[in-house]
Amino acid sequence: MQPDEDDEGQERGGNAPGSANGAQSVYRDPTAREIWLPAKRRMLGKVADFLIDHDLEVLPFTLGIAYDCVTGASPRLAQMILERAEKGLPVTLRWLDEAVRDGGPAKAEETLHDLMGQLEEGLASFGNTMKGARSATSQYSSALQRHVDDLRTATSTDGMIAELTALTRAMMDHTRVMEGDLARSEKHAQELQATLEETRRAADQDHLTGLPNRRAFEHMFDRELREAQAAKEPLSIAFVDIDHFKRINDTHGHPAGDRVLRVVAETLDRISDARCHVARHGGEEFAVLFRGLSLQQAWKRLDGARAEIAERRLVNRATDMPFGQITFSGGLADVFAFAGKSAAMKAADEALYAAKERGRNRILTAGGETGEPLKKAA
Ligand code: GH3
Ligand code: MG
Ligand code: MG
Repeated sequence: MQPDEDDEGQERGGNAPGSANGAQSVYRDPTAREIWLPAKRRMLGKVADFLIDHDLEVLPFTLGIAYDCVTGASPRLAQMILERAEKGLPVTLRWLDEAVRDGGPAKAEETLHDLMGQLEEGLASFGNTMKGARSATSQYSSALQRHVDDLRTATSTDGMIAELTALTRAMMDHTRVMEGDLARSEKHAQELQATLEETRRAADQDHLTGLPNRRAFEHMFDRELREAQAAKEPLSIAFVDIDHFKRINDTHGHPAGDRVLRVVAETLDRISDARCHVARHGGEEFAVLFRGLSLQQAWKRLDGARAEIAERRLVNRATDMPFGQITFSGGLADVFAFAGKSAAMKAADEALYAAKERGRNRILTAGGETGEPLKKAA
């Protein structure tokens, strides 16, 4: 486009080159920036006025509301705010929060929905959300910095620029504080997550032996049952009980009894793997789950642990007195040979009782519902 004789540039940009002395002016098309900047200034002015008029803190939330109200995106909310201000009541953050929920645009519902979605993602994603929010805040901060630079290069003496610069600076300061808060939140979320994991681990662990406790065992049993059913794999359960343990306590004292319990737990734990789980079921009793092994294979594995402990000769290190032979008895049941979990557990318990009856230091398998007699598996 050819230069023409009007001096719109002066009005638009306020600093068209040479426009101060009209005759010599070199006219040119206003750039998009020159057209856009005053509009941006006016908009920011209105947003600033809105926040100042209602004595609102500069927050992403209030900025969003101010923007929606001045641009007409939320006429109903704007009306509610106006009515409240006319009554002389304060427009607080809390009130705004409720107003957005009650009378805000459909966007509020979407925001709420998003928020619920985020909450459902749980604590695990909290750290990531915080990380994302922190980098968004940094970007926001640098965008504002550029905006301040824009304003600086403008040569208007309009007091609005100074006001906007101050406002923008306040927003930047606030953003920095937010960045700090978010960084702290992120750290806190991580600590919380670690604490939760630690608490969960502690809740599932037996303190004396370090093995999963009865509670954890119940969960493992449910999970293994589901997986074994889905994969059509065998699953068996065993209950193990130390023989004449009361005597050990009586002869050597409770702390020595605890040490023996730990040795038995370690020996049993050595047979565990991804599909074989050993837990302390209570007192001097343990529970073992075998997935993917036939009843005979499971028996063999458990009997190996029995033989190992029976062959050891433990000595009470506090007194140098031998503990004598430590043995345990076990009852094993094929879970799918019974009507359900409880029936299988009962059968394993009965097999254990039978092992005790038949002289201890042995593992017996339970007959299925066919009434097959208890036997010492070969
Ligand atoms: P059986 O061969 O019939 O199982 O005989 P037992 O003596 O092992 O059986 P009983 O159930 O009479 O005794 C179990 C003992 O185990 C009684 C209890 O004081 C002891 N006990 C249970 N929990 C612990 C523990 O955490 N530490 C110690 N030291 N002893 C425990
Ligand atoms: Mg017992
Ligand atoms: Mg016992």
